Amino acid sequence: MAVGWRKLNVGVTGGGIGGMCVAIALRRAGHEVTIYERSDFAGEVGASVSCAANGTRWLHEWDIDVAKGDPVVLKRLINRDWKTGEPISEYSLDDYEQRWGYVYNMFHRQYMHAMLKDSALGEEGKGSPAKLLVNHRCKDIDLDTNTITFENGVIAQHDLIIGADGIGSAVRNIIGIHPTRRPADQQCLHCNVMTDDAVKAGLVDYSLNEALEYWGGQEGKWDKIVLSPCNGGKLLSYYCFFPRDQGDYVNQAWGAEDRPVEELLKPYPELDRQVFGHLAIGKEIQPWRLWIHDPYPYLNKQRVCLLGDAGHPMMPHQSQGACMAIEDAAAIGILFSPAYFDGNIEQSLAVYNKVRLPRATRVQSAAAKAAYNINERIGFSNNKDLPFYKVEDQKNVLTIEEMNAYDMYRDIEEKLAAAKGSGYAGNFICGLPIGLELPNGIVIGASA
Ligand SMILES: Cc1cc2nc3c(=O)[nH]c(=O)nc-3n(C[C@H](O)[C@H](O)[C@H](O)COP(=O)(O)OP(=O)(O)OC[C@H]3O[C@@H](n4cnc5c(N)ncnc54)[C@H](O)[C@@H]3O)c2cc1C
Repeated sequence: MAVGWRKLNVGVTGGGIGGMCVAIALRRAGHEVTIYERSDFAGEVGASVSCAANGTRWLHEWDIDVAKGDPVVLKRLINRDWKTGEPISEYSLDDYEQRWGYVYNMFHRQYMHAMLKDSALGEEGKGSPAKLLVNHRCKDIDLDTNTITFENGVIAQHDLIIGADGIGSAVRNIIGIHPTRRPADQQCLHCNVMTDDAVKAGLVDYSLNEALEYWGGQEGKWDKIVLSPCNGGKLLSYYCFFPRDQGDYVNQAWGAEDRPVEELLKPYPELDRQVFGHLAIGKEIQPWRLWIHDPYPYLNKQRVCLLGDAGHPMMPHQSQGACMAIEDAAAIGILFSPAYFDGNIEQSLAVYNKVRLPRATRVQSAAAKAAYNINERIGFSNNKDLPFYKVEDQKNVLTIEEMNAYDMYRDIEEKLAAAKGSGYAGNFICGLPIGLELPNGIVIGASA
């Protein structure tokens, strides 16, 4: 146990995926946590969320009953030809669990959120259950007294405040980050298809593939269909991307009235007829606003920090948004655990910033590239022998190895040692083992 460890009273603004995860990590580390959520969760997003091994590993570390989230365990990534639907690039996940210790889960967001909420608030499990206060929208924080003011007039003081309040974060502004965001040239409509309905309509049962499937993405165009099976395969969640001149949804929020199916089909006259047939019976058609945020300069100020989309909102094309929020939560849990926290909150948050900002912003920039080139997407980025494989910079491409061979404990130890001015003698650099050869040709620790 680190000398100086003490129990903290932590306030988390935002009870989404990241907020619930950090509450779990912190209660397990021995702290008291209160989550303040602006909504009452009635409008939770009905779509899939993928959780690759780098996210799944923390769910297991936190003893979460992952089966409660009713995931589909993915067996492959498939990229299909836009017009014929024939597979053109595949990445098998057959040895994924064996290599990385954890599976690649595809959850339905509401089930994943409920699973995390049970772990954060439940009586069972390590530490004291976190408290959840809904209908508490954070309005302001006094950084000197660490006091949060909510729109409903409630005021609360905490030792540590975590802004997990999503892409439109209020906490981000309060700590002095005012992003200039711009609408992406790409737009997205999401729809759900019940597998049973597709089968009854005589269409292909894509759930049998247990795959994350993509149509298009090779042509440097914005058009792309992404299919994720969830709820044990009963539900097919479709993300349908197209150029902004085909439909502009930048100012339409998720949760408004469903869009008509004709609007969903309009940009796709040449799309493979099987998947087109699925989209034609799609329900709950909702726009997903895509805004580009360039990386922010920092994640912390005094005793406040940002977590998840509040700190590094990203395009969805690496399916890593939730995983990055989970990793942030894991880093906070480790840094404030009895083994590492010596009572100095500001120093722990400075290390959090050093550990999380480079990794999350690297994924953020790789997600922007994968928006128009699927070869940049983790997994497909390993298929470099395919004739049409082309990436912007082979040495900089993000690979599955970099995501999953990462050891956060070693990264934290290295950066904590630097902060304290003590030496670090481990065989890791930024959490990656020295000597590891990545498929992009980079060897960790070798001089360039
Ligand atoms: C439709 C959709 C599909 C997605 N699919 C994937 C996927 O397949 N894979 C993947 O990895 N990621 C996916 N993502 C992204 C992923 O959901 C986010 O990256 C992830 O949820 C980040 O977690 P978060 O806690 O930072 O934000 P959120 O989960 O968005 O939670 C933020 C919470 O803060 C609350 N809040 C906001 N403002 C305030 C305030 N002022 N005061 C108090 N509370 C506030 C919000 O109500 C919300 O509950 C998807 C996102 C969407 C919208």
